[in-house]
Amino acid sequence: MSYIRWLGHAAFELSLSNRIILIDPWITNPLSPITLEDIKHVDFILVTHDHGDHLGETVEICKKTNAVVVGVYELTTYLANQGVKNTLPLNIGGLVKLTSEIEVYATPAQHSSTHGSPCGFIIKNPEITIYHAGDTGLFKDMELIGELFNIDLALIPIGGVFTMSPREACIAIKLLRPRYVIPMHYNTFPEIRQDPQEFKDMVEKLCPHVKVLILKPGDKVEIPIKL
Ligand code: ZN
Repeated sequence: MSYIRWLGHAAFELSLSNRIILIDPWITNPLSPITLEDIKHVDFILVTHDHGDHLGETVEICKKTNAVVVGVYELTTYLANQGVKNTLPLNIGGLVKLTSEIEVYATPAQHSSTHGSPCGFIIKNPEITIYHAGDTGLFKDMELIGELFNIDLALIPIGGVFTMSPREACIAIKLLRPRYVIPMHYNTFPEIRQDPQEFKDMVEKLCPHVKVLILKPGDKVEIPIKL
């Protein structure tokens, strides 16, 4: 069964084409429904950038599971030096195949990082095309991402301060034109407190064809999404 599960903040667990993929695995985040001990099997870890709330426990999980880390070249090189054995580097605008069915493409993200450029990811298999925006401000080329990929599900930060707030995220959705949206990167700590319902109301007014799914950490949505 394919699914997406929110682990709080920007962390997600995906089950796609019989592979388990973690994105930005800050498993010890204050909203996390799981602990490191709960993680037994992971095939791939996608890391958007090296800030602690996104890199999270990547190194520990790799040592435990031998997962392959996918990220921009400078970040995977840094992680290899930290003892991560299996890496798959790429860069903005590039695509890698994880298996015969799963492809990952790196999108730009307007943010900062120490090791290489921050990015977002398109994750695609025959069932679904998912966009994880990473940490980013609003940028007009989101329109190009929506043109290049027929996005089924967009994972969008709405917390403000370090990323878009609901107002900009709403315009991002207008540019990306996904079918579904899951807001993320909010209410983890006081600086990024937001009301996701306010975001949902704005999106559904501006883009009536888009459905906003407000998840609680730990919630799992089956793929293909039927809501
Ligand atoms: Zn960041």
